[in-house]
Amino acid sequence: MADRRARAAEILVILRRNFRVPRLSSVADDPFKVLIRTIISQSTAERNTRRAYDNLSRSFPITPERLSKANAKKIESSLRVAGLYRSKSKIIKEVSKTIHESYGDSLDFIYSEPTEVARKRLIDLPGVGPKTADIVLLFCAKRPVLPVDTHVDRVSKRLGLVPSNARYEEVRSGLQEAYPPKDYFAVHMLLISLGRAYCRALNPLCQECPVREKCPSSKSPLMRKGPRSFIGREHHGMVGNYRLGPMRPSATVRKRSSQICRTRGRRAPARSPRPRSSGLPPSQAA
Ligand code: SF4
Repeated sequence: MADRRARAAEILVILRRNFRVPRLSSVADDPFKVLIRTIISQSTAERNTRRAYDNLSRSFPITPERLSKANAKKIESSLRVAGLYRSKSKIIKEVSKTIHESYGDSLDFIYSEPTEVARKRLIDLPGVGPKTADIVLLFCAKRPVLPVDTHVDRVSKRLGLVPSNARYEEVRSGLQEAYPPKDYFAVHMLLISLGRAYCRALNPLCQECPVREKCPSSKSPLMRKGPRSFIGREHHGMVGNYRLGPMRPSATVRKRSSQICRTRGRRAPARSPRPRSSGLPPSQAA
């Protein structure tokens, strides 16, 4: 554990040198607004989340009462850019109705209740899961919880900070043990920044990654061999214990593979064709 904490601390120092941590006050707002924004962000890119939230706030005041009484079709059309807009619209109406009718239009219990009690009450709201609850608790009430989104989950596993098969609660408690509570917000934001800039789900940029010296996944045979590891193989990428799924070599990798093969007098592997859409539904395309 001491080793893991020391490595976790070194990683944090490097991340702070390479990425900016936003001020907590600039992202925390009214807890109800943070809740709605987080619901919209599920399975949605940051840019589209922002656009959908802006559309919604132009159409309605973001309050439990107004959203609970809002026309569902109008909410849907505001959220269309975010994807899953029908189910998100339904969840937003339901959660707004519950907060309006059962909580007097306020989530102020997050400031007064003990953390675990407030967390449970948030998770009991319709459509609110542990990640959304943790974001509201950390961002608004500055509670000592470390939310795990898709980037935090992927990056912390590749960095070996938590087991590769850990589920939400295990990742959260593993990171909470590895870092002191004062760093939870920074760790959350910085792992997201690293995941977006370098440690992408597909084709992570390990060679350029600022924490590669501390990352066990960067030393995996696949990563060490670089482009040559792609030669002549149908390839399913593993970075450390984290499966990336089927990967197609990038244009740069294919070019370097061809150069290596020419140098060695071998034929370059055939380029794997991109699947082309026939424009027909799958049932008719065959
Ligand atoms: S070295 Fe590679 S696997 Fe490790 S954190 Fe960086 S991009 Fe991710």
